[in-house]
This record gives sequence, C-alpha cells and structure tokens, in this order.
Amino acid sequence: MTTKRRIEITTETSEVVVIRRPQPLASRWCELCREPVGMVRPEQAAILAGISWREVSRRVEAGTVHFNETPDGLLLICLKSLLPL
Ligand SMILES: [Zn+2]
Repeated sequence: MTTKRRIEITTETSEVVVIRRPQPLASRWCELCREPVGMVRPEQAAILAGISWREVSRRVEAGTVHFNETPDGLLLICLKSLLPL
C-alpha cells in the first residue's frame, strides 16, 4: 500500500503601489508661474500625473507645461502647470 502525499504550495502575492509626492519637494523658481513651485524630473512627473513619459515630453514640446533646465542640462517639470489643482 502506497501513501500519497499531496504537498500544496500556496503563494500569495500582493502588490502595493504607493504614489507619493517626493519629499521634500524641491522648490524652484518657475519663470511662467512667477513663483517657486515644485519641480520634478520628467519620469517623476509622469508618475505623479498618471501619464506616460512620452506624454510628458509631448506636453513640454507643445508648451502646455512649464519646464526648467538646470545648468547641467537636467530637465525639470513644473508641477503646478502639470497637475491642475
Ligand atoms: Zn510653472
């Protein structure tokens, strides 16, 4: 008589997506807002706005979002123009 053993392996995966604003948010002067605003990198901007990186660059090219370039060539997106409050 043989004994059959059944081994059951249950894997449970859970995914927690936490979207939070970068802390602390660097405030930089936006020429178009005329005030210090939160400036983030395009990839962060895409996450915060829930849009693709491509959409961010499309808006930059279309001029619908404000942006700033740091002296070292880093593109920063004005959150105030990107996220309607
Ligand atoms: Zn702005």
